[in-house]
Amino acid sequence: MISEIKDNILIVGAGFAGATIARELADSGRYKVHIIDQRNHIAGNAYDPINEALKLRVHQYGPHIFHTNDQRIFDHLSRFTQWIPYQHKVEAWIDKAGYVPLPINRTTLNTLYHCQLKDEADVKNFLDTLKCHHLAPKNAQEIAENIYGAELTQLFFGRYTQKMWSLKLSELPTEVLARLPVRYDDNPHYFNDAIQAMPAQGYLHLFENMLDHPDISVSLSCTFEKTMEKNYQHIFNSMPIDVYFDEKYGALPYRSIQFVHERLQEHYQPVPTVNFTDEGMYTRQTDWRLYPGCDLGKRSEILITKEIPCSYEDNNFERYYPVKTVAGEPQKIYKRYRGEAEKLNHMTFIGRCGQYIYYDMHQVVANSLKIARNFLVS
Ligand SMILES: Cc1cc2nc3c(=O)[nH]c(=O)nc-3n(C[C@H](O)[C@H](O)[C@H](O)COP(=O)(O)OP(=O)(O)OC[C@H]3O[C@@H](n4cnc5c(N)ncnc54)[C@H](O)[C@@H]3O)c2cc1C
Repeated sequence: MISEIKDNILIVGAGFAGATIARELADSGRYKVHIIDQRNHIAGNAYDPINEALKLRVHQYGPHIFHTNDQRIFDHLSRFTQWIPYQHKVEAWIDKAGYVPLPINRTTLNTLYHCQLKDEADVKNFLDTLKCHHLAPKNAQEIAENIYGAELTQLFFGRYTQKMWSLKLSELPTEVLARLPVRYDDNPHYFNDAIQAMPAQGYLHLFENMLDHPDISVSLSCTFEKTMEKNYQHIFNSMPIDVYFDEKYGALPYRSIQFVHERLQEHYQPVPTVNFTDEGMYTRQTDWRLYPGCDLGKRSEILITKEIPCSYEDNNFERYYPVKTVAGEPQKIYKRYRGEAEKLNHMTFIGRCGQYIYYDMHQVVANSLKIARNFLVS
């Protein structure tokens, strides 16, 4: 019998980027894939282990809601999980007004301004009286003010942005707010995407299924070292690209989040995650019982998690959000690293930190499938 020799591939990072590529290459039958992660678990930032004592599934790195308009990505992931349909809602806590829907909608305006806007035409007319007229808006503040005016922009986005990014809204590029839908009706949903769901048995279960393949092996608590490179035909690397190049052009900035967990006897909030848009240190608060697939039985205490944004240096170098500014300094640094990376034939940088881009889960899966499929035909 002739034994088939398969090429060895190393994948750094068992998040969505790494796991997607691992499975695609293994399924081709041509590669043996070894995937490593410096953490002691798979699933990257989507890791959602069960807290057995509280009978809750808790997303360790903040709530992750799957949403996409791309049926192919949903179908692809549906090989590894069943889903619970879930349309995400967020409300903001506003001093003296209480909880109001976010994105701003008719109810938000009626509550804040004690008015009775009846329909979309009323809402549009009302916003017309508030909105600014920045010609060719240059930053996120001008985009928001052109829709909501200066007061609502400051109330919902100005102070929130300051604590989230440690930057003024006017220092952020327009695309930061482009993700938030504009509502003139009573639609209370946070996303517009046609597909919105949570994995029925959690993201960890989805990842276990994705990596369950005879040609995939996994090493946890294993940090990438350059000496590993010689053992593999190709490396797909989701580590921070600046760290790989020893930060020789400078460190790429990231924002991070500290998660503060509180166990309470009683608690009420109207939606799974609420936003705090005031000057206080917290940005969001999650009541895990309220996410579908997270409430796993009776408990004696409730767990809520509050989020405090910070720089990644203040959170054990946990890099969550790449920082992009209007002035474009981080983007320029990233371009220099990308230029270096393009000279490496044996390595492809992937994912959020490898490509220095904020990806939602469906986006990182789409990008990683493309990278894997291009590699297979190269
Ligand atoms: C707070 C927060 C909330 C989010 N909410 C949503 C949401 O609601 N919906 C949505 O679609 N997306 C959400 N996202 C985005 C989602 O987390 C990303 O799309 C996804 O994590 C990207 O996958 P990745 O594989 O690129 O990165 P990661 O998930 O970060 O995986 C990268 C892995 O690489 C490992 N690694 C890094 N360096 C090394 C090294 N040197 N050696 C070994 N291993 C290494 C890391 O330990 C990590 O596990 C959220 C992100 C954050 C931070």
